[in-house]
Amino acid sequence: MSAGFTTRPCSSCRAPMIWAITESGKRNPFDAEPSPKGNSALALGADGIVRSRVVPKDQRAGMFSEPLYLSHFATCPEAERFRRTPARPETSA
Ligand SMILES: [Zn+2]
Repeated sequence: MSAGFTTRPCSSCRAPMIWAITESGKRNPFDAEPSPKGNSALALGADGIVRSRVVPKDQRAGMFSEPLYLSHFATCPEAERFRRTPARPETSA
């Protein structure tokens, strides 16, 4: 069963994505559907924030019960556009 993560459409290709905070504290969109090629487990915290955790390859075999997700950057047909956009510091407070 899916944990029912909130999804948002990709601004480029409209595919549903799950925004998560990575282990390095960055926001990263993941495909809403788990993928056999996925490498990250997502967990919804009590604070309502989804966090992602990269599962090392040698640990994935024993994790069939946990769906793994793939970064949307890896699958978005418009990913080239993402990459060309210069990263903006999020300082709008
Ligand atoms: Zn996309």
